[in-house]
Amino acid sequence: MSVSGVSAKMSDFRAGITAIDVDYVRPRLAASHLVIDGGRAAFVDTGTTHSVPNLLAALAEKGVDPADVDWVLATHVHLDHAGGAGALMQALPNARCAVHPRGARHLAEPSKLIAGSIVVYGEERFRSLYGDIVPIEESRIFVPEDGATVRLGGRELELINTPGHALHHYCIVDREHELIFSGDTFGISYRDFDVDGRAFIFPTTTPVHFDPRALCSSVERLMSYHPRSIFLTHYAEVTDLSRLAREMKERVVAFADLGLRYRDAPDRSSKLRHGMFAMISTWLDAHNYLREDGERHRLLDDDVELNCQGIEHWLDRK
Ligand SMILES: [Zn+2]
Repeated sequence: MSVSGVSAKMSDFRAGITAIDVDYVRPRLAASHLVIDGGRAAFVDTGTTHSVPNLLAALAEKGVDPADVDWVLATHVHLDHAGGAGALMQALPNARCAVHPRGARHLAEPSKLIAGSIVVYGEERFRSLYGDIVPIEESRIFVPEDGATVRLGGRELELINTPGHALHHYCIVDREHELIFSGDTFGISYRDFDVDGRAFIFPTTTPVHFDPRALCSSVERLMSYHPRSIFLTHYAEVTDLSRLAREMKERVVAFADLGLRYRDAPDRSSKLRHGMFAMISTWLDAHNYLREDGERHRLLDDDVELNCQGIEHWLDRK
């Protein structure tokens, strides 16, 4: 891979942070964040096994030896976030992988994770999206309790439980630099939807743990740290956080209400999918996003499908 090719996949931010495009589904859909401090490095989320060459190329471009990577921080074990963690760990001799207590066994022994993902994506799509999932030796897994801290060079990172999107989700708080890595807890904000530098945000409710009340509480917990930036896996840095947090919570409630409205409808699945696309499209109109329906479908259809599956799972659990 050429150096310019690598650079095209990287964006640098403040506080030693670089977003790396993990080449998942389409450009700028999913990022891994590389954090460098005092010559030591950490990856926050990894993309899939197919993403690992991008991550190692970014490390090389930054002049960091793989032996100097201390941490692979997997915010949760959904495969677009942690599917590549095992393959990445094989290339990082000294790293430990931090995984939520409810997710750790799935990275050590991924068979259940693989089976669950095949249910969501189907066998064929699963293989092309994720490839092989490499297990991580248990001795290299760190299982943080809520509020545990890890050291990276001169900085301290706090790992806090944030249920709502997934029960195996933590977020990473860097108090000194007033920033948070939110995984999927603070929703999705594709840069494709930016209008005049303003970000657009919506929740992700992937099966099987969506819990609207817990998700709103987790967003509030993130905001209680008064961050100046939040780094989302989908995609990279957002600011303007009081507006985005308010919209996130309103939209979590709107998604739950949409589910409840069609709860007992005989054609619930198709009503939900049409309703969710229409709802997000209305929010895009209000955001002054001008592109037509074809482009909106291209950018949203996968998320609408996943979100509706998660909402139906929630309705069936209630
Ligand atoms: Zn997720």
